[in-house]
Amino acid sequence: MCAALAGCSSGASPGGAAEGDERPLVLATFTVIADLAREVAGDAARVESLTRVGVEVHDYEPTPGDLVRTEGADLVVANGMGIDDWLLALVERTDAPRVVLGEAVEPIAIETGHYAGEPNAHAWVSPAEGARYVEALRLALGELVPEERDAIDARAAALTGELERLGDRMRAGVAALPSEHRVLVTCEGAFSYLARDAGLAEASLWPVNAGGQGTPQSIARVAEVVERTRVPTIFCESTTHPGTQQQIARTAGARFDGSLHVDSLSPPGGPAPTYIALLEHDIEATLEGLGA
Ligand SMILES: [Zn+2]
Repeated sequence: MCAALAGCSSGASPGGAAEGDERPLVLATFTVIADLAREVAGDAARVESLTRVGVEVHDYEPTPGDLVRTEGADLVVANGMGIDDWLLALVERTDAPRVVLGEAVEPIAIETGHYAGEPNAHAWVSPAEGARYVEALRLALGELVPEERDAIDARAAALTGELERLGDRMRAGVAALPSEHRVLVTCEGAFSYLARDAGLAEASLWPVNAGGQGTPQSIARVAEVVERTRVPTIFCESTTHPGTQQQIARTAGARFDGSLHVDSLSPPGGPAPTYIALLEHDIEATLEGLGA
């Protein structure tokens, strides 16, 4: 019976929850932007992520199953700026419209290493840039499901208000920190947009998770920053290998927090099951860690 229904083929997606669901399928490349698209879409579309929670997005290798799912999509949502270039080979085979959220932001260039000069992809970590993503999604989803446009606009406006609140919270929190502690030390250099907006300096072991490991020079530089600033806490992102950073923390007598979420949401029940929860978690962990 299913085969007789238009749009039924997309019900083949993993989980099978879409059986009989006739809403358009929006396919995003990773869980963070999938959740943002879901928040803006509400009930107007079915939104899925190509990659699962906890997957390292930068190095992801698409599967034949991903190709099938992409072919069934009515809208493809990518971040761009290098993090999900692996999608390009998939979408060549479909004529589904595509929205590249990173095109809505002014990129910050990566400063060091193999990727120097290329855009830093992690704009969503900044609430202000996240609001630009929301606007791009509002337009794309409104075009996809015009009859739901009012509801989509209302959801986008509510999200933007929430993001403004988070941006204000971060700026006020950083302004209250001792000035020598206004430095965010991480494994991946994923916080450039947030650090810029909030008035934090940034130091990281590697610029991008793709093949990311510190070099002797970058490790020495981070250790020097931690020694010099006596920053109370240093961090890693949930999808990274924290060993080197933990060693630097031990040597300097700093605390270590490996809970920042950037490239993936956490599973339900974890600290960052949604995009807004991810920002809230990272902001509160940063402010608490640097505040002591
Ligand atoms: Zn990353």
